[in-house]
Order: sequence, then structure tokens, then C-alpha cells
Amino acid sequence: FEGIIRLRTNVRAIDDLLQGGLEPKAIYEFAGEFGTGKTQLCHQLSVTVQLSQDKGGVGGAAVYLDTEEAFSPNRIVNIAQRFDLDPNEALDNIYVIKVINAADLEDRIKFDVVKLVEQANAKLIVVDSIIALYRAEFKGRERLAERQQRLNYILDWLMRIAKVYNVYVVLTNQVLDVPMGYIEVKRPAGGNVLAHAVTHRLFLKKSKEDIKVMEVLDSPRLPFKASAMFRITDKGVED
Ligand code: ADP
Repeated sequence: FEGIIRLRTNVRAIDDLLQGGLEPKAIYEFAGEFGTGKTQLCHQLSVTVQLSQDKGGVGGAAVYLDTEEAFSPNRIVNIAQRFDLDPNEALDNIYVIKVINAADLEDRIKFDVVKLVEQANAKLIVVDSIIALYRAEFKGRERLAERQQRLNYILDWLMRIAKVYNVYVVLTNQVLDVPMGYIEVKRPAGGNVLAHAVTHRLFLKKSKEDIKVMEVLDSPRLPFKASAMFRITDKGVED
């Protein structure tokens, strides 16, 4: 049994929660309201994936599929400096792909991402965020089935790429208020399709002051409701 290599965030509490870091051949979902740190975590992983194995990385590149103009080179520079990487090299090792609609996302994943994984040592695939495009494009109940089918199609592609090429996949997702009896609870968007497609579902929320919390919502291995606290600073995500 070959030991799997974990990709660390280098945030102690989060890596402990994830039992050493992210595992390859799996899809991680960071779901949470606006401002809970989803994008910052994706930035941090895009840098830490480049580190050597003894520093928590795998010496690989990252592909950042950006659907909401969330990618910030300045943040990468700050995070790279914290981990003693040359900021320009760190930026060169992140392939940012701006995605405009669902069809574009499908093409980019099937062609560009596969190519980067095969030829440019891309080890981390980030989709930030997965659902916005689909919600904007397939509006209304009458298009819900079509939307879910298309979502399923792309998630299937991502999982196959993860498995075939031994890469790490992270998706960010929004949350919706869902009625539960007399109250409303926040649940990740994307319905059953997304719920079934992701391996580890993590819920991000704000706590006191600048503290944020990552909580396990659904996972085959991580304990339900286990959580980690973290902060976002000018150096990225920290304990
Ligand atoms: P999400 O993707 O969940 O909407 P982000 O990952 O963009 O949220 O996180 C936003 C949070 O990160 C905010 O609380 C913001 O204050 C903090 N943040 C972003 N950039 C910086 C920075 N340079 N220094 C400190 N905090 C920052």
C-alpha cells in the first residue's frame, strides 16, 4: 500500500482537521457565505502545492479556473513570500483561466486543464466558484434538470482527471438558505448532484471578530462537525 502524499494548507488547525492535508484523487468543496475565506484558501493552496514535499507541497503547478474575477496576483505575491518562494515564479506556476460560461468551463477542463496536467506538471485544480455560472445561465425551475445534468457532466470530468492523474481538486461553492421546519439553515448550493460528486464537503463560516471556522459537513473519513479555526491576514490564511 503506497502512502498517499497530502497537500498541506500549512495552516495547522486545517491540516489537522483534514488528517494531514488534502488527499489526491478526491474533490474538496469549500462552501460558505461571501467573505468566509474560500478564495483565500484556494490562493494559499495554489502556492503551497509548489512547495517541496517536506514543506507540505508536491512541487507542482496549479490551475485556477476563475469564474468570478476572484484571482488576485497580489495575494499570491504575499503568500509566496511567506513561504520563501520567488513571487514571480510562484505566479508563473499558477495557470489562471478566466471562465465565462458553462460551455467554456467544460471546454477548458476537457482540453486546457488536461493538457496542463499532462504537460505542465499541474497538480492542483481549483474551480472558484463552481455554481455561479450554472445558476446564472440555467435560470428557473424549467431548466433545473438541464442545469444539474450539465453540472454532473463537468464534475464527472473533474473526478476522472483527479483519479487518472493523481491530482488535487478544490471547488468553492455558495450557500443558500434552505427551510428546515420553521427555521432556515445554510446549505451548499448545487443540490444532490454536487453533494454526491464531492468527496469532502467543508463548510466555512465566520466566528468571533476575525476568526473563521471550517467545519466538516460531509465526508467518508473526516468526522462530521469536526472543525478548525483560522484567520485571514495579509500573509494569507493562518492559524
Ligand atoms: P470568499 O471567497 O469566501 O468570499 P475570501 O476568501 O475572499 O472570501 O476572504 C475574504 C476575507 O479575507 C475577508 O474577511 C477579508 O477581510 C480577508 N482578506 C482579503 N485580503 C486580505 C488581506 N490582504 N489582508 C487581510 N485580510 C484579507
